[in-house]
Amino acid sequence: MNFFQCFQISCQGATSITTFAVFLCDKIEPALRRAVYERTAKAIAEDMQGKFPDFQGNRANLEVFILRYLAEEENFEYFKQYLKFPKEFFQSYIERRVKNHFLDGSRRLEKFLVSSLDLLHGNIQSAVSLSTRITKDRKEREDKVSLWLDEFCRELSEVISLPRSDLKGIEHQEVTDIEFLSSVMADNLGDLRDRLQKEFADADMSLFSTQPHTILAEHFSGCWEQCPFCGAVCTNTIQGHDGDHQLVFHRPQGVNGWKWHQTDHLAIDICSSDVASNCKFRTGDNITIPYKRYRDAGPPYSTWNILPDPSMQAYWKWFVSHFQTKLEALYNRKFQGRGEIPEAWRRITKQEALSELDKH
Ligand SMILES: [Zn+2]
Ligand SMILES: [Zn+2]
Repeated sequence: MNFFQCFQISCQGATSITTFAVFLCDKIEPALRRAVYERTAKAIAEDMQGKFPDFQGNRANLEVFILRYLAEEENFEYFKQYLKFPKEFFQSYIERRVKNHFLDGSRRLEKFLVSSLDLLHGNIQSAVSLSTRITKDRKEREDKVSLWLDEFCRELSEVISLPRSDLKGIEHQEVTDIEFLSSVMADNLGDLRDRLQKEFADADMSLFSTQPHTILAEHFSGCWEQCPFCGAVCTNTIQGHDGDHQLVFHRPQGVNGWKWHQTDHLAIDICSSDVASNCKFRTGDNITIPYKRYRDAGPPYSTWNILPDPSMQAYWKWFVSHFQTKLEALYNRKFQGRGEIPEAWRRITKQEALSELDKH
């Protein structure tokens, strides 16, 4: 073999290896990008749970933070959304917290993405080295590239989604110098890493296929049934749970629009007092039922266990007093007659209402 032949062969080998590496990196790129976003979404959810007390307990704990937020904002529209669509309000609260923290100008989102990228790039690079180590001494094998790809895909199966079957197009490439292949791959992977890092500088939340706040919100799922009288949410942590719906703190029913029969007077009583009283209520079908036998009204009433308990949170006394005119306008009814707001409620300050929440 003369010099020119030698040169030609090694040139062909190099071309073939370059083709191989370019093809493979083109396949890796979308899978790596997807894996970076998936991993980062989980990392963001974990970071939020680690950093903020809102997310360090159960849903009842989170609700205290939401009630505090609502009181601080003092925006009746927010209250309305929370009262009518509690699940959606929880989700948007979580989303807002995540966005405020990760898009606050500190490039935190970019840092998290790059940190995931570095980790995954390291995993891919290790898979290249490992496949090379295993394959290079298998002198008896003619299909070294195919063997290399088998090892590579197996090693990465937990890291990125790179089906071996997608790589059939290059498995017959004539590559004899596996170590040279390894170094070309390392260069190409380095370039890919740099390209993605640049891309992440402009990243925003819309690029996640599963949103970080959705992952975080899953920790606070559970039953979202609302008390048919006051609208407070069942506190059971299992969706579709066995047994009755139940909750600790019912609310003055006027919050949910309940009024006294044949008047336009909103009710200030709570369900847990009513069930121990001699009062009656009227269902949507115009049937009158004594509160003491509220279950006789059928579903949804019969699916609730409302324990007699006269204590009412100061928070709702403050809310009703503070937003009286807004509530009256919302339901086109008045806090009058039996629904007259007690003077004692009006003396409760927002601060008192919030301090009491913290005790539970
Ligand atoms: Zn209730
Ligand atoms: Zn329930």
